Amino acid sequence: MVRIDLKEQDSASGADLDSVLAKQRTAFNARPNPPWNERKANLQKLSKAIEDHAEEFQKAISEDFGNRAYEETTIAELLVIQGGIGHAIKHTKHWMRTRRAPTAIQYAPASSRIVPQPLGVIGIISPWNYPLQLAIMPLIGALGAGNRAMIKPSEYTPRLSDLMKRVLGTIFSEDEVYVATGGVKVASTFSALAFDHLLFTGSTSVGKIVAAAAAKNLTPCTLELGGKSPTIIDESANMALTVPRIVNGKTLNAGQTCVAPDYVLMPAAKIDSFSEALINKAEEFYPTFAGNDDYTSIIADSHYARLQDLLEDAENKGARIRVAGDDDKQQLAKERRVPLTVVTNTTPDMKIMQEEIFGPLLPVVPSETLDDAMSYVQSKDRPLALYWFGEDKKKRDRVLNETISGGVSINETAWHVVQEDIPFGGVGPSGMGAYHGEHGFNAFSHMKGVYLQSRFSQGKALFPPYTGKTHKMLNLMKKII
Ligand code: NAD
Repeated sequence: MVRIDLKEQDSASGADLDSVLAKQRTAFNARPNPPWNERKANLQKLSKAIEDHAEEFQKAISEDFGNRAYEETTIAELLVIQGGIGHAIKHTKHWMRTRRAPTAIQYAPASSRIVPQPLGVIGIISPWNYPLQLAIMPLIGALGAGNRAMIKPSEYTPRLSDLMKRVLGTIFSEDEVYVATGGVKVASTFSALAFDHLLFTGSTSVGKIVAAAAAKNLTPCTLELGGKSPTIIDESANMALTVPRIVNGKTLNAGQTCVAPDYVLMPAAKIDSFSEALINKAEEFYPTFAGNDDYTSIIADSHYARLQDLLEDAENKGARIRVAGDDDKQQLAKERRVPLTVVTNTTPDMKIMQEEIFGPLLPVVPSETLDDAMSYVQSKDRPLALYWFGEDKKKRDRVLNETISGGVSINETAWHVVQEDIPFGGVGPSGMGAYHGEHGFNAFSHMKGVYLQSRFSQGKALFPPYTGKTHKMLNLMKKII
């Protein structure tokens, strides 16, 4: 297995980045509002390039992880991107339109409009877990909104980053789209550039550093962060549907998914049978974990060690650990593969109940009533996603109305993320702002408010000197507002 020296990768220099940003800004200023046909052409060539290089992307990602099934890359990256581009091509012309806005009657006969405008140069910093999707989905929004973009992908996926740089370099000039490869040093310099908007996807801790760097330039940020996403299982849930959906959400990409169910809350009496059912289903999905092309490896030794540490800490503090399959532990470690592992008898002092897990370990925590579950969720940081399984619609609506999370899937995990007509983003420590579809277009546009005065305006009645006529006019305005 190839080891990556993350420190060795600092390739784009600060001077390179400054110069690309200057070039992009000059090019933008020369053409500050590209028409729809140019934006559409950009989206079409992006779609074609991703399609033409699909197999290379699958291969690069698999090699970066150690293993990831090509099908998984198709499901969670390529199809999502093509869906995003298709949706943008269908709707962006409409989103670009100047909208009429009402004008308060006291200002009649003036009129108002909202004019969406490209912002300029968008910075995109992306993580390693879905390295293509999480770089390209923001790019779709940025290009659809008429901007130029600079992308800093993760140092953990160097093959994918190099390939993405090469492929985007064949269809875009450096002053349109630029990929800055490198490690944390490059990322840090990148986040200090005076972009017109910066979209960061990654951990909450790095998100704080990036937001502080952006604040120095007053660069507005969209922060797509992580956290512990709860799953509440109601007694009305259909367990035959619930179990495979949770296993799938937790084992896709070996749980290295920002919206993977982090832990489950359910009545204590059902935990044992549910845990057994999870293990059985995982073994059905993956008859072996070691050597199985369908099962993704953990991205790096450090993350593998982090997951082992979470388990060891939980076990030392009295948790019960059930591991799917009976693979040889040394072989699993060699391949950095972690089978689905159900953790019960947890206590709040365990690290696994405090940190985002970001791997296929699933604590199942007793919670007797909906009120118990909701007050547990509300006592924690606001999560990126929340899942509720059940058939009782009243309880479902209480969960929707009374809990705060970035997004929700009901009777499912994760799939709300790929719906282009709803916003994708976190809230509080799980993020700030949102994108996808029109929400991405809006995030990367300036919605300019425009007021058009009429030649018949009565505004002159408010000009000084203030007299009795002014007071009459003010009284009239008070009455009609
Ligand atoms: P990370 O925060 O370590 O890194 C993300 C990016 O930030 C990388 O490109 C990295 O080079 C860059 N970076 C690192 N240090 C930096 C610094 N000091 N200044 C500027 N940039 C810096 O995250 P990760 O390990 O790549 O990804 C996992 C995390 O991302 C998890 O917390 C997960 O929940 C979250 N995530 C969120 C979403 C979402 O859409 N909300 C999606 C995927 C992952």
